[in-house]
Parts: sequence; C-alpha cells; structure tokens
Amino acid sequence: MSRKHASPQPLLAGLIATLLAAPAVAKPPVYATPAETAFVDALMAKMTVEEKLGQLNQPAGVGANTGPAAMAGSEDQIRRGEIGSYLGTQGAVLTCRLQRIAVEESRLKIPLMFGFDVIHGHRTVFPVPLGESASFDPVEVQNGARVAAVEAAAHGIHWTYAPMVDIARDPRWGRIVEGAGEDPYLGSVLAAARVRGFQGDDLRAPDTILATAKHFVAYGAAEGGRDYNVADVSERTLHEVYLPPFKAAVEAGAQSIMAAFNEVAGVPMHAHRPLIEDLLRKQWGWDGLLVSDYTGVMELMPHGVAANRTEAGILGLRAGVDVDMVSQIYVKDLPAAVKAGRVPMAELDASVRRVLNAKYRLGLFEDPYRYCTDDGARERALTLTPEHRAAARRMAQKSLVLLENDRNVLPLSKSVRTLAVIGPLAHHQRAMLGNWAVAGREEDAVTPLEGLKAALGEGTKLVVAKGADIDSQDTSGFAEAVAAAKQADAVVMFLGEHPDMSAEAHNRTSLDLPGVQEQLALQVAATGKPVVLVLLNGRPLSISALKGRVPAILEAWFPGVEGGHAITDVLFGDVNPSAKLPVTFPYTVGQIPLYYAYKNTGRPPSDADKYTSKYLDAPSTPLYAFGHGLSYTTFKYDAPAVAKKTLAPSALQQQVSVRVSNTGKRAGEEVVQLYVRDDVASITRPVKQLRGFQRVALAPGESKTVTFDLGFDDLAMYDDRMQQVVEPGTFTVFVGGSSDQTREVAFEVAAK
Ligand code: BGC
Repeated sequence: MSRKHASPQPLLAGLIATLLAAPAVAKPPVYATPAETAFVDALMAKMTVEEKLGQLNQPAGVGANTGPAAMAGSEDQIRRGEIGSYLGTQGAVLTCRLQRIAVEESRLKIPLMFGFDVIHGHRTVFPVPLGESASFDPVEVQNGARVAAVEAAAHGIHWTYAPMVDIARDPRWGRIVEGAGEDPYLGSVLAAARVRGFQGDDLRAPDTILATAKHFVAYGAAEGGRDYNVADVSERTLHEVYLPPFKAAVEAGAQSIMAAFNEVAGVPMHAHRPLIEDLLRKQWGWDGLLVSDYTGVMELMPHGVAANRTEAGILGLRAGVDVDMVSQIYVKDLPAAVKAGRVPMAELDASVRRVLNAKYRLGLFEDPYRYCTDDGARERALTLTPEHRAAARRMAQKSLVLLENDRNVLPLSKSVRTLAVIGPLAHHQRAMLGNWAVAGREEDAVTPLEGLKAALGEGTKLVVAKGADIDSQDTSGFAEAVAAAKQADAVVMFLGEHPDMSAEAHNRTSLDLPGVQEQLALQVAATGKPVVLVLLNGRPLSISALKGRVPAILEAWFPGVEGGHAITDVLFGDVNPSAKLPVTFPYTVGQIPLYYAYKNTGRPPSDADKYTSKYLDAPSTPLYAFGHGLSYTTFKYDAPAVAKKTLAPSALQQQVSVRVSNTGKRAGEEVVQLYVRDDVASITRPVKQLRGFQRVALAPGESKTVTFDLGFDDLAMYDDRMQQVVEPGTFTVFVGGSSDQTREVAFEVAAK
C-alpha cells in the first residue's frame, strides 16, 4: 500500500482552501467569554426545571405555519416562562409587545428570541439561493445576506433559518432551489459567505442576526428526490459531500444549526447523537445552538423510534437537539421525565446554556428591545430601500446563465420595432419572488414585462400573448402566440415552473417544462424569428427538445423583486451575462443522479463497447454541464502552468496559473474554474472536483493571468480509516470556463 501524508488533525482539517477563495473572516467564531459564562451560570442557578424547558420551547407564532398545523404559543405561556423563542413572528411593533411581556411579566425576565425564515432577502427579495449561487460570487452573496439581515433585524428578527447548505444532486427534490446546488466546494464557499453576511462582525449590533446552517445532514440525499424521505449515505459520502458546507459554516462562526427531517442510515437526525454530539460538538468543537426542524422532535414517533411524545422528547434532547420547534414536547412532556432522572440534568443544562448564550451574544440581556421599535420607524426606514433594491438587481444580473446563443441572437437591439412577449411567466409577480419569500410581497416585484416596458422607448411595439398557462393542457392560446411572433422582429418567451413547484414538499418526477409549454416554444420557434427563451424555474429542467431549435436560452431562476429589470438589462446587453450553472442539467430525468464529480467505474461509458456504464436511450453526458454559462464575448484559455512539477510531502503548496483572454468585442466577466483529480489513489476518486474559482473582468482584447493556490485540503482525501491524507502520485489540474471545457496540467506528489 502506498505511503500517505497524514493531516496534522485528521478529520478536523478544515476547508482552509475553501476559505482562501472567499473574503477573509472578519473575526474568529464567537465562543463563550468568562463574563458570559458567569452571567449564564447565575441565571441558571435561579431556574426551575419548567423554566429551563421553557427556554427550549419554540412555538409557532402569528402566521407561521410551514408544516402541519400546530398549537401556537400564547401570551400566558410567555408570562409563565414557557417560551424561549418564537418561530415566524415578525414586525418591530409586535415583537416589542411580546418582548415586553417576557421582560416585564415573567419571573426571570429572560428576553425572547424571534426566529424567521429569511432565506433570500427579507422584504427586498433576492434571487432564490440556487440562482444566487450561479453567480459564483461570494462577495455579492455575502452582501445579499447582509441586506437581508439589516431588513430582518429592523423587523424585530434575531435569528434566521438560513443558509440552507444541503448539497442536492437530485433535481426532482423541490428544495434544490434553496441551496447552492450539487457541489460541496461551491456550497462551502457560499455557506461561509452567507453566514458572514447574516452575522456580520458583531452579533450585538442591531443589524446582525444569528445564522442557521440547515438541514443537518444529508437532507438533499432523500431517496427518489421525495422530500423528507430516507437518506442512506455512506460515511465517506457524508464526509466528502454532505458535511463540508456545514463545516465551512461552523468555521465561519455560524451560531445555529438545524436538524434535518430525514434519517441517515437508520437513525433520524433528530435522534442522531453520534452526528450531533460526537461529531458537531466534540470533534468540531462547535458551541452553537441546535434547533429542531418544524415538529421534527414529534416526528420521531412516525419515524418509528419513539412510542410517545415523552420518548420522542427524551431522544431529541439527549441527541443534542436544544430547541424544540413547534412540537411543544419539551415544555409539556419532559418536566416529569427530567424530574424522574430520565434526562440527566447536565444535558438539559447544556441545552439551556446554549439558548442563553445566544441571547447573551445578541446583546438581549443588555437591551431586550435592541431589534424592535414601538413606533416601527426603523423598520420603515430600512425596508425596501433603493440601496437594497439596487443590490437585489445586481445579484439578479449576476445570477442569469446564458445557456445558448446561436447566431448571437442576444443581445437584442433596443431599436427593435416590434417585440413579441410570450408565455405565462412574462408577467407573473409571484414567480419573481420564488418560494420561501415569506416576507416578500408580490406588488414589490418587477416582472419581465414591466422591465421591458421601462427600458424600451416609444419606438418599440410590444405584442403580448400568454400562449398557455404554466401547467395546463390547454393549447387554445397557441394561435395568438404564433401570430404575435410572426408579426414581430424578435420574440422573447418566458416559460418555466410555478414558484410553488420548486419548494418544500413540492417534488416532481418529471423535469420537463410543465404543461404544454414545450410545444408552445417549438411552435413559436418554428416561425423562424429570432427567438429568445427566458426560463424561470427552481431546478434543472430537461429542455433537450429545445436545444438547437430555440436559438437563445437564458436561465433566470426566480430572480427576486428586481428580476424584471435584471433580465431586461441582460437581454439588451446593458449587462453581459456571467453566471455559471451550479448544478448539472440532464437530458432527461432518467439520468438522475447526474453530477460532474462522478466516479469512473471500472467500465467508463464508451460508444465502442456495449458493456460499459451507459443508457440505451439517453446519453451519459449532461445537456448542460456544471459550470456552463456563456457570455456575449468569448474567452480563450492558454494552457495552465504549475509552479512546481513535484511537491515534497512536507510542502504541499502548489500554485497554478492560467492566462485568460477576452477574444470578443465586449467587456465581460468570466468565472475561471479550477478542478483537481487525484489520478491514482487507494480509494476511488471523482473524475474531477472543484477546488477554486475566480471572477475576472476583461476588456475586449485584454488578457490576465489568474493564479490559484492549492494546499493540503485541495489534494487530500479520506483513506480507508477515514483519515484525511494526501497520497503520493500524480494529480491532474483542469482549468476552464465550465467543468466540461477545460485545459489540463499535471504534477506529482513525491513519496516520502
Ligand atoms: C423547513 C425549515 C424551516 C422551518 C421553519 C420547515 O418546514 O424544513 O427549513 O426553517 O420549516 O419554517
């Protein structure tokens, strides 16, 4: 067996390289200070068992049902000290009123925390997270989370249930829309960026909120893409694919983590002591607050590991789930169990301490009203400001992926005389917001039709035809749409999914455009006019029938309140698209799971050989690869170079450089991607793995040399004992503008 170079801290070796690519961490993660510990000790010494369990209780507040209907928390419960935090209650005035009850009328006067799903913006809704991730721009993503925190905090919110950092390789799963896509490296960089954006440099500041990395863990591995389903992942896959973004979030200082609804290999995550207590808390040293998902503790009963509410509560609390969201099991069913010694007091105390620590770190004991205002003035001043809208527009511009642009149909000219605007999503405000825009309002959203009207002058006539509904079999609108296309100089079609199709509990067995939209697109394209298809959707779609028939395709996701403007900016060339796919687009749903970092098998697909790993009726390659995304200009990559042909095992630092040139006529930004493969190893390795990316702005004719630093973590893998090691041998580095368009260079790690 080959000799290995072990990490100084096996398993704990972090994603150092991941963080290199992201903006520097402003401050190290917060851990309990002596003053905090002393304060919390003194408070805990006064608490009854009921008051302790009350701190762990998080009922749904006003208008907060995102799961099975549950009993909302009452004001009398606050008075009795039975509520530690609220889910889904917001508003500066309302939160102040409830806070006053806690601080003035409960025995121990412990302030409440208000938790809310601030997922992609708050009132100023940004593109859905999958869209934001297509920007490959951690600075912009961090800024989006910052804007969201400023608004949410002004609405009295202390704690967001974001970022969702679940890696998703099955687009049937509706929640793929909420995360960063299929890749653990990109997912880790963006998880850290979002945590930093929400939490800022100082948790005590009135505009920073606790971030929650969710859903711990492997939620995205739900069998069949069916939400909440079983995840049966190996320890290796857990460590290589699903855990890294959580690790990155922890290293960026995430104060909270949410347990996942699924089981992992037979153990529901709300009862998974080995992963929560042993891995997260002991091995990773994380001292934050672990919150259940909505009724997650209660669901231990249907999972079949708890016979009744008390058993469910004991399992959850003893696994390390600190806060019981919505079930109200801890507060109602555990007092007797604790008094009977069925939950060790030390374990209950540890959970209570974590809740009080969070309140202390937010500064709520100094000033419980720091986030709310009785007159709502700050809330009004900081909601949907022009600066926030501008940030949402910038984010949306950077999230639009140009999938196709045959014959340079795009950008369109603003002097186009007649423009046909077709499709059910041309003027659909909800689709701008997407799912999980809990505080968003439809009337705030600029639709594509409105964006076009705002940008185009009197000289352009818009002919609007819906053509079809999003999900119906009715083709009666086709004739009008085709007639509109025929009289136009150019056509823009807005097709895709209803925003509720890519969401929690909204899974699909088909990835096709719903209803008759594909037929509509084909009939419109058959007019031969310059046709542009803009897709609005929350998951990869199998649009192979349109490739080659519709000349230009722009993936717009659900782009947020400024989406209509951002799409128009790109359609007319005011902005040159630069986003890249954070997830693979398949030809057909039957290819799922399909992702770029696959393993070769012993029989890689070959047309020449029947007995290889492939399908009879579909290619084994994707329709659009991870990292794909065109620009209105073109980029040329020279051959990449490595600083050293051979690395000594004691000095595993490599530098890769590549010269990238803008060979077109427009200024543009390119996301330069770097992938690594360990060519021969003791454990099978993916054919390539993303290990770096950089956005480079290039003027026409300009060239820049981009350099990447690689270190231990970029070359390492887990060996057969799950120790992180770098094995000697050759490594291939791939650099390019997409995972399937790369140039290579190899180097060697010498044996000891
Ligand atoms: C979701 C979580 C969310 C929670 C609270 C659950 O249904 O899975 O992601 O944070 O509801 O709204």
